[in-house]
Amino acid sequence: MSRSRVWHPFTQHAIEPPIPSIVSTDGAWLQTNDGRRILDAISSWWVVTHGHRQPRIMEAIRIATGMLDQVIFAGLTHQPAEQLASALIEMVPPGLDWVFYSDSGSTSVEVALKMALGYFRNIGAPRSRIIAMEHSYHGDTIGTMSVGARGVFNAAYEPLLFEVDTIPFPAAGREQETLDRFETLSLDRRAAALIIEPLVLGAGGMLMYPAWVLAELKRIAEASGTLLIADEVMTGWGRTGTIFACEQASISPDILCTSKGLTGGAVPLAATLASDAIFQAHYCVDRKKTFFHSSSYTANPIACAAALANVEVWRCEPVAERIAALSARQAAGLQRFQNNPFFTESRANGTILALDLRTGSAGYLAEIGPKLRAFFLERGMLVRPLGNVLYLLPPYCITGDELDGLYDAIEEAGECFG
Ligand code: PLP
Repeated sequence: MSRSRVWHPFTQHAIEPPIPSIVSTDGAWLQTNDGRRILDAISSWWVVTHGHRQPRIMEAIRIATGMLDQVIFAGLTHQPAEQLASALIEMVPPGLDWVFYSDSGSTSVEVALKMALGYFRNIGAPRSRIIAMEHSYHGDTIGTMSVGARGVFNAAYEPLLFEVDTIPFPAAGREQETLDRFETLSLDRRAAALIIEPLVLGAGGMLMYPAWVLAELKRIAEASGTLLIADEVMTGWGRTGTIFACEQASISPDILCTSKGLTGGAVPLAATLASDAIFQAHYCVDRKKTFFHSSSYTANPIACAAALANVEVWRCEPVAERIAALSARQAAGLQRFQNNPFFTESRANGTILALDLRTGSAGYLAEIGPKLRAFFLERGMLVRPLGNVLYLLPPYCITGDELDGLYDAIEEAGECFG
């Protein structure tokens, strides 16, 4: 076979061990071309919610491909997009009345940032600053890198990034600092929006903060007229126990970004949901106030059909029960590791469990990361630590035995590397 010409994401090919080739997927499992089975403990970068090749979603894709392929979405529409928009509006927190489609988590955030600035410009009171939370990750495009944590991932591209204001991560006992900083920044009324990952900062190391802080951020944002953008790309679709994490703070953001689990992880799709006020600011006879954003594959009908089937799965199958059972197991897993001397901190939120290994530091460059990845792969497990942060974010179909196997392997990893 000729040498692969594929350039993989977040991969240093010069030191990466041979990359397994996956020939099929099923439930929580991946099958390699040399006959190995790998347990997908991170839902293939957090996209697969119910399990790989969820039957209802696969069937919907099959049916959709018999009817439609891509249709230009400026000036035309189609039923899957229309039905999905109505379904999404029913599922998200109240007050989000308009759905703008795109195709990845990053673009859903780009769209949100543009909507925020467009809103203020169109109402005749321009604001241009964005406030972001320390340690956040919102994607790898120029705009999303700008509002994300700065570091090795974006150092080379720094000249292209725009300046943002940041608030500290609300670590336990220091929440008030975060709120005070946000209040100060928002009072000068130059900030168009605060963008946050609600309750769990994923790529930043599965950092978790309580719902009351989110509720306070919303209160401060509202008082100063700063829009709140909730990036639920990772937290959405049940990861933190509720369909969207914002529900736990009983808040409605002004803009909500969703992708990953939107199609159950089967095909790419994203949506940015906005309040009526934001839509109305763009709705007038003045063509200069149009929302100027599109991508060729906006609202791909097959992806919309997959997302509609995902909604059906949520409506017709005991997804909430599965999530509750998985969350209970992860909470028990947390107990198991809490007194383990090899982990300095352990935390859980809904279906997510995260453990800080005593050795090393969080972050991509930490030597321990690739070693741990290899350790788990040898045991037929896909675990991709964030530096020294070991986390499990499995599909909801994972069984108790499969989870126990993962916990055993984590314990062993602690003994080997901790
Ligand atoms: N926002 C958050 C919170 C994410 O976790 C991610 C990806 O991990 C993104 C945005 C970017 O999504 P995508 O990789 O689909 O562009």
